[in-house]
Amino acid sequence: MKGEARNEGMRLRACLSELREYVPGKTVRGAVKLSSNENPLGASPKVVEQIASMLKSGDLDISKYPWSEREEALREEISAFLHRFHGVSVPTENIVLGAGSDGILDTLTRMLLERNCEALIPIPTFSLYETLVLLAGGVPRFVHRSAADFSVPSDILLELLEYNKTKMLFLCSPNNPTGNAVTKEEMRCIADACDAVVVVDEAYAEFASHSFLEEALNRENVVVTRTFSKAFGLAGLRIGYAILPDWLVTAFRKASLPFSVNSVALEAAILALQDEEHLRRTVELVRKEREFLRKHLSKTFKVFPSEANFLLVDVSPLKAKAVCDALAAKGVLVRDCSSFRGAGDSFIRITVGKREQNEKLLAAMQDVVAEV
Ligand SMILES: *Cc1c(COP(=O)(O)O)cnc(C)c1O
Repeated sequence: MKGEARNEGMRLRACLSELREYVPGKTVRGAVKLSSNENPLGASPKVVEQIASMLKSGDLDISKYPWSEREEALREEISAFLHRFHGVSVPTENIVLGAGSDGILDTLTRMLLERNCEALIPIPTFSLYETLVLLAGGVPRFVHRSAADFSVPSDILLELLEYNKTKMLFLCSPNNPTGNAVTKEEMRCIADACDAVVVVDEAYAEFASHSFLEEALNRENVVVTRTFSKAFGLAGLRIGYAILPDWLVTAFRKASLPFSVNSVALEAAILALQDEEHLRRTVELVRKEREFLRKHLSKTFKVFPSEANFLLVDVSPLKAKAVCDALAAKGVLVRDCSSFRGAGDSFIRITVGKREQNEKLLAAMQDVVAEV
């Protein structure tokens, strides 16, 4: 064991000592899981049925490598969807695919960062950005979002920008875990002033009032990443996409791993886009239930406005960990945000569920407040 530990120190890249392991939302069989922002309706039943029958019939053959023709078919479906849903015409050539938005963010970071290059990260936000920057040999620079409403302090960001040194800026919109979106004005101000690539992570954009697709098409320095994991209910299949300006597309293809999107995920994503009814049902449910939860939770706690499928709740004077543990003991899982850099120890994030799940959460919450 001792020898092993010594070897580890000798062989591992230095950045690994700074890295923190990703803390996923908890999963316990049988519990009400409101900790990972998954779709409460699950995947579209049509997707599940058709994938099962394609596997059985051999139309979908998992012994074969994924076909590039199916990737093209998916990029066309995505383009058509973006036009129907957001009214924006995205050429298929500007759409790239990856193993979840995580996979896409990983590729982008490896493409853009060199040793000692910097990436700006307004916090609290999705913790993967920091990990990817460190793994690429870069330096994350953190900027605190406004304590009042978690808006992005564009003036401070712009002051930190250094020509030829700051290569990336991560903007999550709507932001995980705070729920607020970047405003069009903030984006204009930032993108105008910056030669770094602004990566807009739109994992929750289907639930939001606006998207930055147009900015990705009209600006050389804006990229939008999207996913099938949240509103489309395909988190287990690991598939996402991005809209890139022309100059990044060829490089992205070179830098991403061959066959990074598996063949089942490709077919499921195509089918999910064809069942837009399921997506619309999901979005409608989330918006309605988000308001239901907000109304009830805000009788006791400060609840922040959200454009996503979750709510950020400040449980102070209670501690987030105590509340999450007590809820878990009652079979309800929510996210303790203490592991998000810059979030402090009194925030919890609650995924919006179906009415019966939300009612269980509210009842458990009442018990917890009485007990803790
Ligand atoms: C869930 C989430 C992702 C991960 O998306 P995948 O496509 O499942 O990798 C990316 N960004 C944010 C902000 C998320 O909350």
